[in-house]
Amino acid sequence: MTVITKQSEENLIDEIKKEFPILNLDRSGKKLVYLDSAASSQKPIEVIDSIKEAYENYYANVHRGVYELSQIATDKYEEARQTAAEFINAKSNKEIIFTRGATEGLNLVANCLQENILKEGDEVIISSLEHHSNIIPWQIACKKSGAKIVELKPDKEGNIYWKDYEGIITNKTKVISCPHVTNSIGSILPVNEICYEAKKRKIVTVVDGCQAAPHLKIDVQSIGSDFYVFSGHKIYAPSGIGVLFGKKEILEEFNPYQTGGEMIDFVSIQDATYADLPHKFEAGTPNIVGAIALGKAINFIKKIGIKNIKEHSKNMTQNIIEGLLKVGGINVLGNTESRISIVSFLMAGAHPHDLALLLDKRGIAVRAGHHCAQPAMRHFSVDTTLRVSTAIYNDKEDIEIFLENLKDVKKYF
Ligand code: PMP
Repeated sequence: MTVITKQSEENLIDEIKKEFPILNLDRSGKKLVYLDSAASSQKPIEVIDSIKEAYENYYANVHRGVYELSQIATDKYEEARQTAAEFINAKSNKEIIFTRGATEGLNLVANCLQENILKEGDEVIISSLEHHSNIIPWQIACKKSGAKIVELKPDKEGNIYWKDYEGIITNKTKVISCPHVTNSIGSILPVNEICYEAKKRKIVTVVDGCQAAPHLKIDVQSIGSDFYVFSGHKIYAPSGIGVLFGKKEILEEFNPYQTGGEMIDFVSIQDATYADLPHKFEAGTPNIVGAIALGKAINFIKKIGIKNIKEHSKNMTQNIIEGLLKVGGINVLGNTESRISIVSFLMAGAHPHDLALLLDKRGIAVRAGHHCAQPAMRHFSVDTTLRVSTAIYNDKEDIEIFLENLKDVKKYF
């Protein structure tokens, strides 16, 4: 159990770390230093146990059975929806659609906007710093509708401001889709301002919250976006489950994204009427146990407190950047005004993949590659980077071990 009192941050993280079995495995004396949580986080024991508990005690299909077991499973599944709604301060749990993850959420939104809003000549603004999941769905939506993508270019340090959007908005701009936190450099965008200003201009806003949900308080009412997506696996839940928040009044107008069982009301051979929200957008048997485990993961976050998490993530980021600058020969990508948890960098003369492999031999898991953000790499004139990202279980010692080993492997180049 994580008990948050006036313990120091270090004691707190020590306690939290004990809850992650994978971080405490005996690896022949080698400690696992996991610094790739932006790709996927590790899972605490209570989330792992909740999966076993669900399958052992109350597993059945949801929304269908009149028998008790199915009703219990349905209650647990819907309880998780309520937990997710509270987590992001949605007005109603009808605004919470369970998806496979952020990618599916973004595909759903782009597809529905293409069908319902986008027309020939319209414009969709996305930035150079999007994850591919927030690029390709818009490419398809634009190809199908005749709309076009307009690229918002950050400054050379990777900053993105509302005024940059203002400079490229026209009366044809129908959609702005942006990240809350970028996955390549960890920069935080002023999403409240972007959504507020966009709304004044009747522009639909979509926020990709994948890298924000693990570290920041998400309040969709204060952000004011029409849509907000995130993935469970980055917030200590299993993969294959995610959340799409959509404003009720907009979702109600849309046709379903996928069709089949679960999402219907009345069906004849020729026609059908659809279920109410949120079920209209959850065709087929959902990831029942994944959703239940997501609810547990959110409770785990709540127990620690998102403010504590944010503070810790900021401290870790600062430690990493300060430490990297002392290593020498390091070029950190972007120097944004506010960033959290993610640091991408290059070491002079060393290929990121070689560095990642050498570090892996020493038990340190870091990411090398383009991070599913090729346009972002191009913006910074690089092909790949080494990316270090933290979660609530990383402590100062993890960062020290990483930095010490980085210094040590530098001698090979
Ligand atoms: N957007 C961002 C900013 C991400 O970091 C990721 C995952 N790396 C995604 C979208 C896609 O998430 P998923 O693969 O979980 O669908």
